[in-house]
Amino acid sequence: MRLNILAFAAGVIVLQMQPELPPAWPWVLAGLLLALPAIHWRGAWPARVVGVVACLALGFAWAAWRADVRLADALPAAWEGRDIEVVGVVAALPQDFSQGSRFEFAVEKVSTATAVVPERIMLSWYQGQRDGEEFVRQPLRPGERWQFTVRLKRPHGNANPHGFDYEAWLLERNIRATGYVRPAPQQRLADMVWRPDYVVERLRMGVRDSFATLLPADNYPWAGILVALVVGDQRAIQGDLWTTFNRTGTTHLMSISGLHVTMVAALFGLLAGSVWRRIPALALRLPAQRAALLAGCLAAFFYVLLAGFAVPAQRTLYMLLVAALAMGSGRIVAPSRTLSLALLVVLLIDPWAVLAAGFWLSFGAVGALLYVGSAVVGESGGWRQRIRSWGVVQWAATLASLPVLLLVFQQFSLVSPLANALAIPVVSFVVTPLALLAAVIPWWPIAALAHAVLGWLMLFLEWCATWPVWLAPAPPLWAAVVAGLGVAVCLLPRGMPGRLLGVALLLPAIFWPVARPAAGEAWITVLDVGQGLAVVVRTRDHTLIYDPGPLYSAESDAGQRVVVPYLRSLGIAAVDVLMVTHRDSDHAGGMASVQSALVVGKVLSSLGDGAGEPCRNGQNWDWNGVRLAVLHPAAEDYAEQRKSNNLSCVLRIEAGGKRMLLTSDIEARDEAAMLQRDPAALAADVLLVPHHGSRTSSTPAFIAAVGAPHAVIPVGYRNRFGHPKAEVLERYEAAGMNLWRTDRDGALRVALDPQGTSISAWRDERRRYWHGR
Ligand SMILES: [Zn+2]
Repeated sequence: MRLNILAFAAGVIVLQMQPELPPAWPWVLAGLLLALPAIHWRGAWPARVVGVVACLALGFAWAAWRADVRLADALPAAWEGRDIEVVGVVAALPQDFSQGSRFEFAVEKVSTATAVVPERIMLSWYQGQRDGEEFVRQPLRPGERWQFTVRLKRPHGNANPHGFDYEAWLLERNIRATGYVRPAPQQRLADMVWRPDYVVERLRMGVRDSFATLLPADNYPWAGILVALVVGDQRAIQGDLWTTFNRTGTTHLMSISGLHVTMVAALFGLLAGSVWRRIPALALRLPAQRAALLAGCLAAFFYVLLAGFAVPAQRTLYMLLVAALAMGSGRIVAPSRTLSLALLVVLLIDPWAVLAAGFWLSFGAVGALLYVGSAVVGESGGWRQRIRSWGVVQWAATLASLPVLLLVFQQFSLVSPLANALAIPVVSFVVTPLALLAAVIPWWPIAALAHAVLGWLMLFLEWCATWPVWLAPAPPLWAAVVAGLGVAVCLLPRGMPGRLLGVALLLPAIFWPVARPAAGEAWITVLDVGQGLAVVVRTRDHTLIYDPGPLYSAESDAGQRVVVPYLRSLGIAAVDVLMVTHRDSDHAGGMASVQSALVVGKVLSSLGDGAGEPCRNGQNWDWNGVRLAVLHPAAEDYAEQRKSNNLSCVLRIEAGGKRMLLTSDIEARDEAAMLQRDPAALAADVLLVPHHGSRTSSTPAFIAAVGAPHAVIPVGYRNRFGHPKAEVLERYEAAGMNLWRTDRDGALRVALDPQGTSISAWRDERRRYWHGR
């Protein structure tokens, strides 16, 4: 059975890696045809092999069918960006951010004739001036029915190597369009739509508000973390705290992860079990072990409900229920059998679970608990014994999460094992239960105690954060899978041979060497940051950031969201030069984040105000045989009053006789100035198109002087400026250039070396069936 389930899971995983969605029916047919002989000649080994193949095909078919149904609920491309009137219900706790609030909306009725809108959409409601329109936001509560005029787009996220796949995230949550509320008149049609899920959301809002009253943010700096732990609203955590969590490798603890749900269930189970055992009357009616399991499951259920039945928490709940059933069945069931059954249940309900790192984390946590803990639940013995058992569970859970943390977060900083060793038990066993208690009984002393304990932990974490951080680059998937096996071997019962082998299996994931350019080669990545610019230039031993990317809101920017994670995945913690080409926020917005998260050797910029050394024509240097040269602005340009765009630093990279020209936001007059200074200097093989393809730039004379076979346009999907302009695109096409654009192609990786120039688009390399759907 275990092998068959693993084959089914493998089928699901293979489907989730497909670039296009295949039809399900041939695979259903194949699976069933193979299953018949496998069942008929059961037991014989050929039949077993056929059975495994049948399960593989059925897993593939199941996931394909589910995906087909989900993707069918789509916003037609023709309705993107047009006003549509809808009626529906605020379906989840709204999240406030600096410019307004964001919420999930369950569409009940589309009033605009012939318009088609998916059932569940994500809306932003802005506050204040935006693109010349005045937006007035009204307070929102979950469960309210509203009539809105909205503008929507199909799911779209930035596509970067090792970046967060927002489109997958939306797909997992069945949110099939995103958009915003228009300033047109809105109307609240009902105060409360009585449906269980809306009631739960309203209760969550009550809990969030009660924490805000009990622990006002001004006096209680960590209150936001408590809110995140109880109702899963991570926006309540202030930005600078994330740096501490990142540096100490404890980020995963600050959300309602599988780990917390598992630990809360275990804690309540243990408590109920020990109470039960002491009261004979109870123990006679129901064995203590069963009572413990029941209490654990109930605790998990309520916690998951409070988390808004969020997808990751849900998955853990299903796993725990299966595990509890197996433990309570009275028969001795091998942990691996229980685990595989849990895997099957989750995948039947939610085949997208395999895409989420959190799922594998909770899977590891539940697995570790089963492996070493099946004996603990309902076990008698002294308190010493019990504490020891918990220590073992804890260590197992930490170890089990290692491969996933490395693969996805690459933040196994040196101090992380120490930080986690204290933080996991404190958060899971003390802070979270106390905070949950305070949610049920909103009494100040309980909330304040939770806050105080958290305060001590934060002191410790802040101390840990001052340690030097060693960031492991992201290992390839196979190394993470091998490490997972290594963990399983390490957790084998004592006395089993081969624990050392387990440790050896961990090594490739921990010490994975990152590919880097050879001497004389340059690798340039134009990251997909939406509307704005961020480029990373690497030679064998050096790294340069050419613009740290746009500011998205007061809380987030591309530096922290895209540039730093990208460099981290490569194991790069220090950059030699940060070049900030000009002061516009779509280029310089990520500067502070990059400077705080990475060691920056030197800043070159046109910002003035002491923000590094001014960039100017004539600066040039050599890195590992790669020539870098600044071509603009001229030194005297700084004396004039100029628009920020006109001071954009232009950088030329030359490796093995091949060149790439990075032009930021220069305009026609700057192009003319460079042409006048030295037209031959502009010749290149790849051009980063000036000013996102705006009409202000890309004059025919400039394009001709560059003469590049490839042009890369950094541009946001359906951006509000209408970049790139059609007439500019025509000019490049007329010049016979290959056009690449980040909104369509994702991040673009350019390699310059003596053999030639190569460009690859991340959306082609790592295309998935849901991208652009
Ligand atoms: Zn720009």
